[in-house]
Amino acid sequence: MTLLLDGRAVSEKLRARIKEKVESFVRKGFRRPGLAVVLVGDDPASVVYVNNKRKACKKVGIESFFYHLPQDTPEGRLLSLIDELNKDERVDGILVQLPLPEQIDRLKVIEAIDPSKDVDGFHPQNMGLLVAQSEKGFIPCTPLGIDLLLRHYGIEVKGLNAVVVGAGFIVGRPLSLLLLWRNATPTVCHVYTKNLKEHTLKADLLVSATGVPGLIRGDMVKEGAVVVDVGISRVGGKIVGDVVFDEVAPKARAITPVPGGVGPMTVTALLLNTLKAYERHLSSTIKP
Ligand code: NAD
Repeated sequence: MTLLLDGRAVSEKLRARIKEKVESFVRKGFRRPGLAVVLVGDDPASVVYVNNKRKACKKVGIESFFYHLPQDTPEGRLLSLIDELNKDERVDGILVQLPLPEQIDRLKVIEAIDPSKDVDGFHPQNMGLLVAQSEKGFIPCTPLGIDLLLRHYGIEVKGLNAVVVGAGFIVGRPLSLLLLWRNATPTVCHVYTKNLKEHTLKADLLVSATGVPGLIRGDMVKEGAVVVDVGISRVGGKIVGDVVFDEVAPKARAITPVPGGVGPMTVTALLLNTLKAYERHLSSTIKP
Protein backbone atom coordinates (compact mmCIF):
# COMPACT_ATOMS: atom_id res chain seq x y z
CA MET A 1 0.00 0.00 0.00
CA THR A 2 1.31 3.40 -0.94
CA LEU A 3 1.44 5.86 1.92
CA LEU A 4 -0.19 9.20 1.13
CA LEU A 5 1.79 12.05 2.68
CA ASP A 6 -1.15 14.17 3.78
CA GLY A 7 0.12 17.73 4.16
CA ARG A 8 -3.30 19.01 5.15
CA ALA A 9 -3.69 16.64 8.09
CA VAL A 10 -0.12 17.14 9.31
CA SER A 11 -0.52 20.90 8.99
CA GLU A 12 -3.68 20.83 11.08
CA LYS A 13 -1.83 19.14 13.92
CA LEU A 14 1.17 21.45 13.73
CA ARG A 15 -0.99 24.57 13.47
CA ALA A 16 -2.98 23.53 16.55
CA ARG A 17 0.32 23.43 18.45
CA ILE A 18 1.35 26.83 17.07
CA LYS A 19 -1.98 28.30 18.17
CA GLU A 20 -1.54 26.88 21.67
CA LYS A 21 1.91 28.42 21.92
CA VAL A 22 0.71 31.81 20.67
CA GLU A 23 -2.20 31.83 23.13
CA SER A 24 0.06 30.92 26.02
CA PHE A 25 2.22 33.99 25.24
CA VAL A 26 -0.89 36.17 25.00
CA ARG A 27 -2.18 34.82 28.33
CA LYS A 28 1.10 35.89 29.89
CA GLY A 29 0.46 39.43 28.66
CA PHE A 30 2.70 39.52 25.62
CA ARG A 31 1.65 41.02 22.29
CA ARG A 32 0.68 38.68 19.45
CA PRO A 33 3.27 37.69 16.82
CA GLY A 34 3.02 39.81 13.68
CA LEU A 35 3.67 39.04 10.02
CA ALA A 36 3.82 41.79 7.38
CA VAL A 37 2.67 40.53 3.99
CA VAL A 38 3.62 42.65 1.00
CA LEU A 39 2.08 42.12 -2.42
CA VAL A 40 3.05 44.18 -5.44
CA GLY A 41 0.55 43.99 -8.29
CA ASP A 42 -2.38 41.62 -8.85
CA ASP A 43 -0.88 38.39 -10.16
CA PRO A 44 -3.84 36.01 -9.60
CA ALA A 45 -1.75 33.13 -8.18
CA SER A 46 0.04 35.54 -5.82
CA VAL A 47 -3.28 36.95 -4.63
CA VAL A 48 -4.43 33.40 -3.75
CA TYR A 49 -1.15 32.59 -1.93
CA VAL A 50 -1.20 35.84 0.03
CA ASN A 51 -4.81 35.32 1.09
CA ASN A 52 -4.06 31.75 2.19
CA LYS A 53 -1.13 32.90 4.27
CA ARG A 54 -3.14 35.68 5.93
CA LYS A 55 -6.04 33.33 6.70
CA ALA A 56 -3.62 30.80 8.18
CA CYS A 57 -2.09 33.53 10.40
CA LYS A 58 -5.50 34.57 11.67
CA LYS A 59 -6.44 30.99 12.57
CA VAL A 60 -3.40 30.52 14.78
CA GLY A 61 -3.61 33.98 16.36
CA ILE A 62 -0.74 35.62 14.44
CA GLU A 63 -1.54 39.20 13.40
CA SER A 64 -0.99 39.92 9.73
CA PHE A 65 -0.43 43.39 8.31
CA PHE A 66 -1.20 43.56 4.62
CA TYR A 67 0.45 46.01 2.22
CA HIS A 68 -0.90 45.88 -1.31
CA LEU A 69 1.07 48.08 -3.70
CA PRO A 70 0.26 48.77 -7.36
CA GLN A 71 2.02 46.90 -10.19
CA ASP A 72 3.95 50.04 -11.22
CA THR A 73 5.40 50.67 -7.75
CA PRO A 74 8.94 52.04 -8.05
CA GLU A 75 11.68 49.97 -6.41
CA GLY A 76 12.48 52.85 -4.02
CA ARG A 77 8.91 52.87 -2.64
CA LEU A 78 9.10 49.14 -1.83
CA LEU A 79 12.53 49.55 -0.24
CA SER A 80 11.29 52.36 1.99
CA LEU A 81 8.29 50.26 3.07
CA ILE A 82 10.68 47.45 4.01
CA ASP A 83 12.75 49.92 5.98
CA GLU A 84 9.62 50.95 7.93
CA LEU A 85 8.68 47.33 8.56
CA ASN A 86 12.22 46.51 9.74
CA LYS A 87 11.75 49.17 12.43
CA ASP A 88 8.14 48.31 13.30
CA GLU A 89 8.09 46.52 16.67
CA ARG A 90 4.76 44.81 15.99
CA VAL A 91 6.28 43.05 12.99
CA ASP A 92 8.29 39.86 13.57
CA GLY A 93 8.30 38.58 10.02
CA ILE A 94 8.30 40.25 6.60
CA LEU A 95 7.11 38.39 3.56
CA VAL A 96 7.39 39.96 0.13
CA GLN A 97 5.38 37.79 -2.24
CA LEU A 98 7.35 36.75 -5.34
CA PRO A 99 7.50 37.20 -8.30
CA LEU A 100 8.00 40.98 -8.31
CA PRO A 101 7.31 43.26 -11.31
CA GLU A 102 10.27 43.67 -13.63
CA GLN A 103 11.19 47.23 -12.55
CA ILE A 104 12.09 45.84 -9.11
CA ASP A 105 15.35 43.99 -8.42
CA ARG A 106 14.37 40.94 -6.36
CA LEU A 107 17.77 40.52 -4.71
CA LYS A 108 17.90 44.17 -3.64
CA VAL A 109 14.53 43.74 -1.94
CA ILE A 110 15.51 40.50 -0.23
CA GLU A 111 18.75 42.06 0.98
CA ALA A 112 16.84 45.01 2.43
CA ILE A 113 14.86 42.79 4.82
CA ASP A 114 16.28 42.57 8.34
CA PRO A 115 17.59 38.95 8.47
CA SER A 116 15.93 38.50 11.90
CA LYS A 117 12.55 39.17 10.18
CA ASP A 118 13.30 37.21 7.00
CA VAL A 119 10.81 34.41 7.63
CA ASP A 120 11.02 33.34 3.97
CA GLY A 121 14.69 32.55 4.53
CA PHE A 122 15.86 34.07 1.23
CA HIS A 123 18.26 36.70 2.62
CA PRO A 124 21.89 35.81 1.79
CA GLN A 125 22.64 35.67 5.54
CA ASN A 126 19.97 33.02 6.08
CA MET A 127 21.03 31.13 2.95
CA GLY A 128 24.58 31.19 4.34
CA LEU A 129 23.36 29.84 7.67
CA LEU A 130 21.62 27.03 5.78
CA VAL A 131 24.92 26.15 4.11
CA ALA A 132 26.57 26.34 7.54
CA GLN A 133 23.86 24.03 8.97
CA SER A 134 23.07 26.52 11.72
CA GLU A 135 19.77 26.63 13.58
CA LYS A 136 20.29 30.39 13.92
CA GLY A 137 18.91 31.05 10.45
CA PHE A 138 15.50 30.68 8.84
CA ILE A 139 15.09 27.77 6.44
CA PRO A 140 12.98 28.64 3.35
CA CYS A 141 9.38 27.57 3.89
CA THR A 142 8.88 24.93 1.18
CA PRO A 143 12.06 22.96 1.99
CA LEU A 144 11.26 23.25 5.71
CA GLY A 145 7.68 22.10 5.09
CA ILE A 146 8.91 19.04 3.16
CA ASP A 147 11.38 18.22 5.95
CA LEU A 148 8.60 18.42 8.55
CA LEU A 149 6.26 16.29 6.44
CA LEU A 150 8.84 13.53 5.95
CA ARG A 151 9.75 13.60 9.65
CA HIS A 152 6.10 13.37 10.64
CA TYR A 153 5.78 10.10 8.71
CA GLY A 154 9.06 8.78 10.12
CA ILE A 155 10.80 8.87 6.74
CA GLU A 156 14.51 9.07 7.49
CA VAL A 157 16.38 10.69 4.61
CA LYS A 158 19.86 9.98 5.99
CA GLY A 159 21.82 7.94 3.46
CA LEU A 160 19.14 8.11 0.76
CA ASN A 161 19.87 9.03 -2.85
CA ALA A 162 17.77 12.16 -3.10
CA VAL A 163 17.12 13.55 -6.56
CA VAL A 164 15.73 17.08 -6.70
CA VAL A 165 14.35 18.06 -10.09
CA GLY A 166 14.34 21.86 -10.32
CA ALA A 167 17.08 24.15 -9.07
CA GLY A 168 15.01 27.26 -8.40
CA PHE A 169 16.04 29.65 -5.62
CA ILE A 170 12.79 29.16 -3.70
CA VAL A 171 12.60 25.38 -3.62
CA GLY A 172 15.11 23.13 -5.41
CA ARG A 173 18.34 24.86 -4.47
CA PRO A 174 17.68 25.39 -0.74
CA LEU A 175 16.05 21.95 -0.50
CA SER A 176 19.18 20.26 -1.85
CA LEU A 177 21.20 22.04 0.88
CA LEU A 178 18.74 20.97 3.55
CA LEU A 179 18.90 17.37 2.32
CA LEU A 180 22.67 17.53 2.56
CA TRP A 181 22.26 18.83 6.13
CA ARG A 182 20.04 15.81 6.83
CA ASN A 183 22.80 13.53 5.47
CA ALA A 184 21.07 12.44 2.27
CA THR A 185 23.03 12.32 -1.01
CA PRO A 186 21.38 14.95 -3.18
CA THR A 187 21.58 15.25 -6.95
CA VAL A 188 20.12 18.43 -8.42
CA CYS A 189 18.65 18.31 -11.93
CA HIS A 190 17.37 21.21 -14.01
CA VAL A 191 16.22 22.12 -17.47
CA TYR A 192 19.69 21.51 -18.97
CA THR A 193 20.21 18.12 -17.31
CA LYS A 194 20.85 15.46 -19.94
CA ASN A 195 18.78 12.31 -19.69
CA LEU A 196 16.72 13.22 -16.65
CA LYS A 197 15.33 9.70 -16.36
CA GLU A 198 18.79 8.23 -15.76
CA HIS A 199 18.97 10.36 -12.61
CA THR A 200 15.41 9.98 -11.38
CA LEU A 201 15.56 6.18 -11.63
CA LYS A 202 18.31 6.21 -9.00
CA ALA A 203 16.24 8.20 -6.52
CA ASP A 204 15.19 6.72 -3.18
CA LEU A 205 13.67 10.13 -2.56
CA LEU A 206 12.48 12.02 -5.64
CA VAL A 207 11.37 15.64 -5.31
CA SER A 208 10.06 17.51 -8.32
CA ALA A 209 9.86 21.31 -8.22
CA THR A 210 9.70 22.53 -11.80
CA GLY A 211 6.15 23.65 -12.54
CA VAL A 212 6.11 21.40 -15.64
CA PRO A 213 2.89 19.38 -15.43
CA GLY A 214 3.31 15.68 -16.18
CA LEU A 215 7.14 15.83 -16.19
CA ILE A 216 7.58 12.81 -13.91
CA ARG A 217 6.09 9.67 -15.47
CA GLY A 218 5.78 6.19 -14.00
CA ASP A 219 8.76 4.79 -15.94
CA MET A 220 11.06 7.43 -14.40
CA VAL A 221 10.57 6.28 -10.82
CA LYS A 222 12.26 3.46 -8.91
CA GLU A 223 10.06 0.88 -7.21
CA GLY A 224 9.65 1.85 -3.52
CA ALA A 225 10.75 5.46 -3.90
CA VAL A 226 9.37 8.30 -1.79
CA VAL A 227 7.97 10.93 -4.17
CA VAL A 228 7.37 14.57 -3.25
CA ASP A 229 5.58 16.74 -5.79
CA VAL A 230 6.13 20.46 -5.26
CA GLY A 231 4.83 21.64 -8.63
CA ILE A 232 1.72 23.78 -8.84
CA SER A 233 0.26 24.40 -12.29
CA ARG A 234 -3.21 25.22 -13.45
CA VAL A 235 -4.35 22.98 -16.27
CA GLY A 236 -7.92 23.31 -17.55
CA GLY A 237 -8.99 25.01 -14.32
CA LYS A 238 -7.48 22.24 -12.16
CA ILE A 239 -4.40 22.43 -9.92
CA VAL A 240 -1.87 19.78 -10.91
CA GLY A 241 1.67 18.91 -9.90
CA ASP A 242 4.75 17.81 -11.86
CA VAL A 243 4.08 14.13 -11.20
CA VAL A 244 1.64 11.90 -13.10
CA PHE A 245 0.10 10.66 -9.89
CA ASP A 246 -1.80 7.66 -11.27
CA GLU A 247 1.33 6.23 -12.90
CA VAL A 248 3.76 6.99 -10.10
CA ALA A 249 1.71 6.24 -6.95
CA PRO A 250 1.51 2.45 -7.53
CA LYS A 251 5.33 2.25 -7.67
CA ALA A 252 6.02 4.59 -4.77
CA ARG A 253 6.41 3.71 -1.10
CA ALA A 254 5.00 7.13 -0.25
CA ILE A 255 3.79 10.12 -2.28
CA THR A 256 2.38 13.62 -1.77
CA PRO A 257 -0.90 14.59 -3.44
CA VAL A 258 -1.38 17.88 -5.31
CA PRO A 259 -3.20 19.77 -3.91
CA GLY A 260 -2.99 18.86 -0.21
CA GLY A 261 0.66 17.83 0.03
CA VAL A 262 3.51 20.32 0.03
CA GLY A 263 1.31 23.44 -0.35
CA PRO A 264 -0.21 23.46 3.16
CA MET A 265 3.15 22.44 4.66
CA THR A 266 4.77 25.52 3.11
CA VAL A 267 2.27 27.77 4.86
CA THR A 268 2.73 25.88 8.12
CA ALA A 269 6.50 26.37 7.86
CA LEU A 270 5.90 30.10 7.40
CA LEU A 271 3.86 30.17 10.62
CA LEU A 272 6.63 28.29 12.43
CA ASN A 273 9.30 30.67 11.15
CA THR A 274 7.17 33.62 12.26
CA LEU A 275 6.76 32.11 15.72
CA LYS A 276 10.54 31.53 15.88
CA ALA A 277 11.19 35.17 14.91
CA TYR A 278 8.66 36.34 17.50
CA GLU A 279 10.18 34.30 20.32
CA ARG A 280 13.61 35.71 19.47
CA HIS A 281 12.36 39.27 19.27
CA LEU A 282 10.64 38.88 22.65
CA SER A 283 13.71 37.46 24.32
CA SER A 284 15.88 40.23 22.92
CA THR A 285 13.51 42.97 24.13
CA ILE A 286 12.57 41.65 27.59
CA LYS A 287 14.89 43.17 30.15
CA PRO A 288 15.60 41.04 33.23
P1 NAD B 1 11.72 28.23 -10.83
O1 NAD B 1 11.20 28.71 -12.14
O2 NAD B 1 12.56 29.13 -9.98
O3 NAD B 1 12.57 26.91 -11.06
C1 NAD B 1 12.14 25.89 -11.90
C2 NAD B 1 13.26 24.90 -12.05
O4 NAD B 1 12.79 23.82 -12.84
C3 NAD B 1 14.50 25.47 -12.77
O5 NAD B 1 15.67 25.07 -12.08
C4 NAD B 1 14.45 24.80 -14.15
O6 NAD B 1 15.75 24.56 -14.67
C5 NAD B 1 13.74 23.49 -13.81
N1 NAD B 1 13.06 22.90 -14.96
C6 NAD B 1 12.17 23.50 -15.80
N2 NAD B 1 11.79 22.65 -16.77
C7 NAD B 1 12.44 21.49 -16.54
C8 NAD B 1 12.48 20.25 -17.21
N3 NAD B 1 11.76 20.03 -18.31
N4 NAD B 1 13.27 19.28 -16.71
C9 NAD B 1 14.01 19.49 -15.60
N5 NAD B 1 14.02 20.65 -14.92
C10 NAD B 1 13.24 21.64 -15.39
O7 NAD B 1 10.45 27.73 -10.03
P2 NAD B 1 10.23 27.57 -8.45
O8 NAD B 1 9.89 28.88 -7.86
O9 NAD B 1 11.34 26.77 -7.85
O10 NAD B 1 8.88 26.72 -8.45
C11 NAD B 1 8.80 25.45 -9.06
C12 NAD B 1 7.39 24.90 -8.95
O11 NAD B 1 7.07 24.73 -7.57
C13 NAD B 1 6.30 25.82 -9.52
O12 NAD B 1 5.28 25.01 -10.05
C14 NAD B 1 5.79 26.53 -8.29
O13 NAD B 1 4.46 26.97 -8.45
C15 NAD B 1 5.87 25.43 -7.29
N6 NAD B 1 5.94 25.87 -5.91
C16 NAD B 1 5.16 25.22 -5.04
C17 NAD B 1 5.18 25.54 -3.70
C18 NAD B 1 4.33 24.78 -2.77
O14 NAD B 1 4.16 25.20 -1.66
N7 NAD B 1 3.79 23.63 -3.16
C19 NAD B 1 6.03 26.55 -3.24
C20 NAD B 1 6.86 27.20 -4.14
C21 NAD B 1 6.81 26.84 -5.48
